[in-house]
Amino acid sequence: MRNSNEICIVGDGFSAAIMVIHLLRKGVPPSSITLIGPGVIGQGNAYSCSSQSYRLNVREDLLITFSENPLHFASWAQNHIHDPKAKTAAGYFYRRHDFGRYISELVSNELGSGQLIHIPAKVTQIVRRGDDWSLSLENNNDLIAKQIIIATGNAPPIWPCNVIKKLASPTWINSHLVENPWTGDYLQEIRAHENIILLGAGLTALDTINALVEQGHCGMIYVISPRKIFPPAQASWQRLHEPNWPKKLSPRHLIRFIRDYLPSADTTSSEWQCAWEELRVNLNTIWQQFSSSQRLILLKRVGWIWSLYRFRAPPQTIASYEQLREKNQIHIILGRAKQIICAEDHIRVLLDNGCEAVGERIINCTGVGADPLLSNLISDRLAIPDGLQQAIAVDTNLRVLDSNQQAWENLWMIGPATMGSLGDVVAASAITKQAEQLAEQMIKKEH
Ligand SMILES: Cc1cc2nc3c(=O)[nH]c(=O)nc-3n(C[C@H](O)[C@H](O)[C@H](O)COP(=O)(O)OP(=O)(O)OC[C@H]3O[C@@H](n4cnc5c(N)ncnc54)[C@H](O)[C@@H]3O)c2cc1C
Repeated sequence: MRNSNEICIVGDGFSAAIMVIHLLRKGVPPSSITLIGPGVIGQGNAYSCSSQSYRLNVREDLLITFSENPLHFASWAQNHIHDPKAKTAAGYFYRRHDFGRYISELVSNELGSGQLIHIPAKVTQIVRRGDDWSLSLENNNDLIAKQIIIATGNAPPIWPCNVIKKLASPTWINSHLVENPWTGDYLQEIRAHENIILLGAGLTALDTINALVEQGHCGMIYVISPRKIFPPAQASWQRLHEPNWPKKLSPRHLIRFIRDYLPSADTTSSEWQCAWEELRVNLNTIWQQFSSSQRLILLKRVGWIWSLYRFRAPPQTIASYEQLREKNQIHIILGRAKQIICAEDHIRVLLDNGCEAVGERIINCTGVGADPLLSNLISDRLAIPDGLQQAIAVDTNLRVLDSNQQAWENLWMIGPATMGSLGDVVAASAITKQAEQLAEQMIKKEH
């Protein structure tokens, strides 16, 4: 058992790194920070990818790491990234890998000669130990922390249905069933003529399509999705007006207000996206005023439309998709996967509507999975599920709520898992704001 750690950050991705940076900027000594996570600080699931074809889905000026200097990344990119394909009519969309490099460099610069403790492991459980916390690691070590910030981010995708493995060898299965495509490591094993099945039609599927086109893929690509539509490309946009929001809104009124505010222009146009982005500014505040059941109603009624238009694709990936479409090399199969059968040298996917798809490799592009650490906190009654039942609930000060809805004074959470409680906290800029807010709060608490 190690000695007590002052501040433990669980997770090592963008949220953890930006938290470290803002704590250091507030004068917290590096030696009082312990960071626990298996990878390189700052890269996480989003930016540790090896593929050079995976691009940021927002233009360079929106990746904000310091509110007082919003163009910090944009200027860094100009001087440190050589990427002739980044420039588009909607702005510069750099490689995710390069943004990961930027964040790691920011942490090193901020640390200077100081050292924090980085434990390369995952935390499996957190339990109360007096006024402190005890953290169990997957390598069977334990440690004690006075304060914990959970920053475990987006849990990697898991298969959405049964996978039956018949006859095929384990090595073949491992390389042909890609459960987590976020790193992009699997791409180099793909032979150019293979027929590939993509499960899902969101941003991960578009990343995969872009990578396959860039590596000259000639085989068919079958996309299984309940809807025949991909996220649109980012257009060139700016916020020109402020919506005149009504005072009290029910979910129904909110939907109507949004519908009326949006122009009848094409959803891919600049005009439409300008209006959409104007609406987004206030949505988190409105979301926080809704009860859990109102949030669930909204999720059920407009969740998929929200995801479709909120998470837009870098223009480069849509250009790759169009290229495949012109060559009839991509085919969307409508439905949801019910079973994946992996036979000797091929994969068959059975859909809920009786259709099927056959290919030589399947890539799981179904999005975020479940976080076992958060589930453990709920089953140990140290936390409660959020309004969307997707993660754990936090209050507006980012404090985790216990089973009596009381906020812990030394357990916080930041990053995308706060979405069910606080609204759209997925983009780097929104996470930066949380880190700035929490660093400020923690300093005030000390004094
Ligand atoms: C594939 C992908 C691409 C994205 N692209 C963009 C983009 O282009 N632009 C944008 O603004 N946003 C993007 N996002 C959104 C993303 O939510 C944020 O930008 C941000 O990267 C989230 O950082 P994070 O550290 O919270 O999460 P993650 O990047 O998911 O990192 C979390 C880290 O915590 C570690 N971890 C998990 N559980 C534990 C545990 N129990 N113990 C210790 N460590 C643990 C994980 O291994 C991981 O390294 C993307 C997200 C994904 C998943």
